[in-house]
Amino acid sequence: MSGAVKGWCPGAHRPMTAADGLIVRVRPPLGALSPETAAGFAALAARWGSGRIELTARANLQLRGVRPGALEALLAGLDALGLLDADPATEARRNVVLTPFRDDARDLEAVAAGLAEGLADPAFAGLPGKFGFVVDAAPGARALTGVSGDVRVEGSGPAMVVRPDGAPTGRIVTDAAEAVALALALARWFLAAGGVGPDGRGRMRALLATGALPPAALVGAATPDPAAPPPRPGPRAGGLCVAAALGEMSADALERVARAADDALRVTPFRMLFLPRVASGALLGDVAGLILDPDDPLLRVTACVGAPDCAEAGGATRGAARALAPYVRPGSHLHVSGCAKGCARPGPAPWTLVARGGRFDLVAGGAARDAPAALDLTPDDARRRIQG
Ligand code: SF4
Repeated sequence: MSGAVKGWCPGAHRPMTAADGLIVRVRPPLGALSPETAAGFAALAARWGSGRIELTARANLQLRGVRPGALEALLAGLDALGLLDADPATEARRNVVLTPFRDDARDLEAVAAGLAEGLADPAFAGLPGKFGFVVDAAPGARALTGVSGDVRVEGSGPAMVVRPDGAPTGRIVTDAAEAVALALALARWFLAAGGVGPDGRGRMRALLATGALPPAALVGAATPDPAAPPPRPGPRAGGLCVAAALGEMSADALERVARAADDALRVTPFRMLFLPRVASGALLGDVAGLILDPDDPLLRVTACVGAPDCAEAGGATRGAARALAPYVRPGSHLHVSGCAKGCARPGPAPWTLVARGGRFDLVAGGAARDAPAALDLTPDDARRRIQG
């Protein structure tokens, strides 16, 4: 991901530069695309980019391989589809992840829309680029506990609560408007309480860890619902989850998904799309790069783009990940990273291979930046270690 600046969130207005061209990240409003919009987005990816679309861990879509000279035309196309914010600042602040598994029981789309609208206020201009909101209040269980966020709107039994990240409990709210008002009030408190450091960065959890406490009117004692297990591809209550192998799908595959959809496609932070009201993946079974089987070995591997698409990479990654996937035991996971930055999985994994000079260093139970347990492995060496 060369060209990205730490602590700064790229978007459509501020693309990143990589060895294979510009990366243009799009935040679909409410994390959803109508079938027509999804098909239009796929056409833009094929026309102005390399046709490769990445699904990110914050439920965004990234177009790869965009030529600098094509950016203006691509942005015009995104604007025509309603996928472009008015300006870079508005785009950067609209950092809201909405659970894809919402139903009509709570008006969570109104919460997410209200947050996006409220965040356009210049009063929030000082929020760090990574400061985000997670709307995870579908009844029953929280799906997004693994998604980074600073203010969380969650379920608590029959109620909805708003909680600053880092606090174990939150305050009960009665409706979407109250949830938005309280979440934005917590963001205002974060700014006023000195949550942003001199370098422009800061997180709610870190601020609370200093002992800072929001005023009593912004906190509460309600415990959020338990965490749901990670979703798996295939049918589930309310629709169908379609995973993208290694987090990437082709423009053709997205166009096929759009044709199979019955309603707006929801982009998830699990490198999957969720198709409400679609009961079966029969229409998608033959589409390369899509995963509908929850036991597919490719779900046990993660890999960044590696060489040659990223200039930082010490070697290719995705071929090794595909080749090694069948040897990763169920319940385990292998992360193949092009370098120690570990973009595809910043946290630890049971196994991490880090490319270096065309070979791999192996980290056991750590992250790509951690000390390796073995150096200079070939993929065959790595397979024996992972199996053994
Ligand atoms: S982890 Fe992968 S994508 Fe990120 S900088 Fe390294 S090689 Fe590039």
